[in-house]
Amino acid sequence: PAARVRGMATSIFTEMTELARATGAVNLGQGVPELASPPALLRDVADAVLAGHNQYPPAVGLPALREAVAAHQRRLYGLAYDPAAEVLVTTGATEALAAALLALCDPGDEVVAFDPCYDAYAADARLAGATLVGVPLVPDGDGFALDADALRAAVTPRTRVLLLNTPHNPTGKVFTRAELAAVAEVSAEHGLTVVTDEVYEHLVYADEPHLPIAALPGMRQRTLVVSSAGKTFNTTGWKVGWVCGPAPLVTAVNAAKQFLTYASGTPYQAALARALDGVEQWAAGLRAELRANRDVLTEGLRAAGLRPFRADAGYFVQADVRPAGYHDGTAFCRDLPGRVGVVAIPTAAFRTAQGPDWLVRFSFCKRPEALADAVERLARLAG
Ligand code: PMP
Ligand code: GLN
Repeated sequence: PAARVRGMATSIFTEMTELARATGAVNLGQGVPELASPPALLRDVADAVLAGHNQYPPAVGLPALREAVAAHQRRLYGLAYDPAAEVLVTTGATEALAAALLALCDPGDEVVAFDPCYDAYAADARLAGATLVGVPLVPDGDGFALDADALRAAVTPRTRVLLLNTPHNPTGKVFTRAELAAVAEVSAEHGLTVVTDEVYEHLVYADEPHLPIAALPGMRQRTLVVSSAGKTFNTTGWKVGWVCGPAPLVTAVNAAKQFLTYASGTPYQAALARALDGVEQWAAGLRAELRANRDVLTEGLRAAGLRPFRADAGYFVQADVRPAGYHDGTAFCRDLPGRVGVVAIPTAAFRTAQGPDWLVRFSFCKRPEALADAVERLARLAG
């Protein structure tokens, strides 16, 4: 195989989901939601399929969805995008991120991201011939904080992109306004493009709602906002995402995107356009369910003798496994299915830089019964 894929192992999500299947363990590894989708959305997709909307949509996405995305950004965040030139529909956030890095990076360039980070980031940089440079998020009380000096130190003349993810996977961190301002300042100082992955934008459980960095002064012009319908509507299998930004940047992303997939999921796009228009009400209910799950899991991890961190958003709680006698999260995750019948993912799988090896990520986007079962199993660690 070519150097760009040589040594790329099977994704940790695939590996852990297979392990759960093989051992009959409860899968708190991969963030696959088990919660319901809006019934009207499901009906709309079925209707669209049966009505024959089954051929290629326009490569940039159905106009109705691009308009709904633009309206969403304006309504929630006061960000104005021209749906015809500044919104591009993609095959999930995954394709948007890959196409963005392919569009922005030349071989030898560097992409700065906060570590730990979603595993696709380093792979996408590598596919573009670039290198991912990780800036560690530092444990700070029961959360994680940005080290602005470390961010500054990581930027070199080869840096092209600052890749941000808020709300953050795997920590559950929501970047504060001050942290976003620091990221914005560094990007402006060095003329960097910010690519911001906001797939968990509707899943914030803390008091402050999601704040996109593009909404900070001067940032819209240098930012590509990436999001997706997967987490918002519990439809991760549909793979419909989008990217918003100034026209020249979006045009560059589309140059790559059109030769990766050309287009994506016609019947899903039509249905999602309608669902996005009413997303606020839907998301409030989903957040309530997920917040309750987060509390059950956090308590369960504590009762199991681990030290959970605070998850303000998203699908995951991280825990320090040292109180259970492990120094290494990977060893803990290897033992966990056999010891108690639960699968989790070592945070080490999300690392590109030095950082604590004793963190493990547990997912809570599960049916309450499955979560209760997992918590009961985890309790055996303590007893
Ligand atoms: N970014 C992050 C941070 C994620 O957690 C995920 C979840 N799989 C993705 C991107 C991928 O999103 P999608 O399924 O829309 O491709
Ligand atoms: N985003 C999910 C996670 O972090 C799943 C990603 C995937 O399966 N590629 O677990």
